[in-house]
Amino acid sequence: MLSSTGSLHSDPRTALVVFSGGQDSTVCLAWALARYAHVETIGFDYGQRHRVELDCRLRVREEIHQRFPDWGAKLGEDHLLDLGLLGQISDTALTESRAIEMQANGLPNTFVPGRNLLFLTFAAALAYRRGATVLVGGMCETDFSGYPDCRDNTLKALQVAISLGLGGPMTIETPLMWLTKAQTWALSDTLGGEAFNELVIEHTHTCYLGDRSQRHAWGHGCGTCPACELRRDGYNTFARQTGR
Ligand code: ZN
Repeated sequence: MLSSTGSLHSDPRTALVVFSGGQDSTVCLAWALARYAHVETIGFDYGQRHRVELDCRLRVREEIHQRFPDWGAKLGEDHLLDLGLLGQISDTALTESRAIEMQANGLPNTFVPGRNLLFLTFAAALAYRRGATVLVGGMCETDFSGYPDCRDNTLKALQVAISLGLGGPMTIETPLMWLTKAQTWALSDTLGGEAFNELVIEHTHTCYLGDRSQRHAWGHGCGTCPACELRRDGYNTFARQTGR
């Protein structure tokens, strides 16, 4: 709905974005900033093999404050929760020095069982304390991973369970759920133009190996791990379609 000044009415709710410092959650943050009156971010420190993601999340927030003042005015507190206890129940390449490989069940061994259920449940508890009634996450069914806790039905069921358990509505929004990686690049371009895509390219992190020594057209990364390949292919498709 357009107001008399022609600007979009802001949704008055407060949103809490699950924000890792990667491309997807950064686009989700922009999506939330374009929509809600007040936006806060939450991240989880669970002994990731690479700390680079945690550094990127602070840098992205800083860049938004500096380069997108309208969004910066709505961007509130950041919360970093220590979930080191996940190390006690995971045995994966993300938290231990093992090679990333596909398991017999078709999932990469980076999978932490039910990780997103845990993240969103902690996020919901914090949101309740902060007066937020919307959770935003970058979960996606169309990418390669097939994680069952990223699926649309899982999250819809979780939304119901959380809302019942908290005794009030908690909406889980997943703006990337049905987008391809190329469409995710197009979404961030729509939300914040080339300036925002430049921010995404330069300051978000995707590479499984934590490599930021090589700069490609699509950003920093080793260029050969599955996460880099997905980001690169999506960017190349987007660039081809838009003539960039
Ligand atoms: Zn990589």
